[in-house]
Amino acid sequence: MEILSRMRHTAVLLGLCAALVAVPAAASAEPTAPKTPRIPLVSTEQIMPHLRALQSIADRTGGNRAHGTKGFQQSLAYVKGVLDRAGFRTSLRPFTYNGVLGHNLIADWPGGDADHVVLVGAHLDSVEDGPGMNDNGSGSAAVLASAVAMSRAGVAPKRHLRFAWWGAEEQGLIGSEDYVRKLAAAGREKIDVYLNFDMTGSKNVQQWLVVHDDPRATDVFEAYFAAKGLPTFDIGIGGSDHESFGNAGIPVSGFTTGVGDCLHDACDRIDNVDPGTETVSANAVLGVTWQLATR
Ligand SMILES: [Zn+2]
Repeated sequence: MEILSRMRHTAVLLGLCAALVAVPAAASAEPTAPKTPRIPLVSTEQIMPHLRALQSIADRTGGNRAHGTKGFQQSLAYVKGVLDRAGFRTSLRPFTYNGVLGHNLIADWPGGDADHVVLVGAHLDSVEDGPGMNDNGSGSAAVLASAVAMSRAGVAPKRHLRFAWWGAEEQGLIGSEDYVRKLAAAGREKIDVYLNFDMTGSKNVQQWLVVHDDPRATDVFEAYFAAKGLPTFDIGIGGSDHESFGNAGIPVSGFTTGVGDCLHDACDRIDNVDPGTETVSANAVLGVTWQLATR
């Protein structure tokens, strides 16, 4: 993510780390079950196994999960398997780049108004120089844990919920551009908003950097973080797969925790992801997606 690598924010460190780790494992029991399920929570223990799986895939396949590699193919198979077991309708969408076959993974949650789609995505590929755990195993795991939590909670959204894991982002947003290009104009109009998550578990996080574009999603993100007392910064638009959607006139939002350390480097391993920050981020993905899809 080139734009972010130039951004070094000057806000003071707020000593967030300790506070971030404390995320309740489950809502307490209620004497009477509410008719509408509450927004569920995801715990660190439900998120980190996905990152451990992606790290071990990279370790087994030559150290990275880049476009055209076994590491990417196995990452796809892992994420698809989790989604299939959780009841999503998954499909692999092939594209070719640099003469090499790549894929996007699309997962639809059955139901909801198909003319009003909330699409949530993260790029699953890494660079060739490292395993890509913060960039972007973190976003991939946050979106995956959110999708599974929604399935477990039996979400019945008003809008249609779709999740995506993009290929070949690191080559220049190739997978997401291919997806948007192949949508007919009518298909593009049905996407109410696209939410992108690229690097969500950075160490020494200072702010949650929110993409300000779609007004409703921007408001929900800002309200979510404000309610938790977490600082945000308007990152504007661009720098990752949401650009492919924005260029096609589709409203976008999302957030990142910034480039952190080891960007595009061999040291972007699982210990380069802060579990507390990643847990806060995954719950923000979940909470905001839930609100946008169900209301
Ligand atoms: Zn990235």
